[in-house]
Amino acid sequence: MKKNCIECGDEFTGRADKKFCTTDCRSSYNNRLNSDSTNFMRNINNILRKNRRILAELNPDGKAKVHRDKLLDRGFKFSYFTNIYQTKQGKNYHFCYDQGYMDIDHGYLILVRRQSYVE
Ligand SMILES: [Zn+2]
Repeated sequence: MKKNCIECGDEFTGRADKKFCTTDCRSSYNNRLNSDSTNFMRNINNILRKNRRILAELNPDGKAKVHRDKLLDRGFKFSYFTNIYQTKQGKNYHFCYDQGYMDIDHGYLILVRRQSYVE
């Protein structure tokens, strides 16, 4: 059965379930896939770490009130966080690791630091 290698595009003859002309092509294809997902995860981890650092810098005393523009100026990305903690009053804190914030009025945020782990 004639097929085209999904890595290099060369034509080869093989069983129906064979996708690569050689083991080299198979391993370079798999290596690239793995490194793409590694890069993707690394980028997200970097964003989360940067978010955490920004929150920590703006919150040296463990509690602070800042305008969200201050975070945006430093490159904070609001769509990235590690988890949400909901208080009994139904308010949501967004956390980047141990550093969290809660939206209050007029674009202001309350910054908090988590003392112990909360689910
Ligand atoms: Zn090939």
